[in-house]
Amino acid sequence: MSFECSRCLKEFEQNIKIPFECSFTKEEYEYDIAEEMRESVLLNIPMKPLCKDDCKGLCPVCGNNRNEKDCFCEQKMKDEFVAEKWSKIKKLKI
Ligand SMILES: [Zn+2]
Ligand SMILES: [Zn+2]
Repeated sequence: MSFECSRCLKEFEQNIKIPFECSFTKEEYEYDIAEEMRESVLLNIPMKPLCKDDCKGLCPVCGNNRNEKDCFCEQKMKDEFVAEKWSKIKKLKI
């Protein structure tokens, strides 16, 4: 199955294992198997697929794929955010 990484939007292939428990009685088996199959498929499809566990995702500022190269937009944003907070705090004190 092919997924799109929810962080960096890169497409990647992943095999989904569907564990199948045979805990039915015979009558239940025929009745429930379709539903059970459907549920186990749904349960095993990740809601937020990731191309790798430590995917760094895309930069929200410049759209750079941070798995491929680093950018410092977010750090810059944090610095600006902190600077803004501080300027407000300073204004309050005056
Ligand atoms: Zn990714
Ligand atoms: Zn960036």
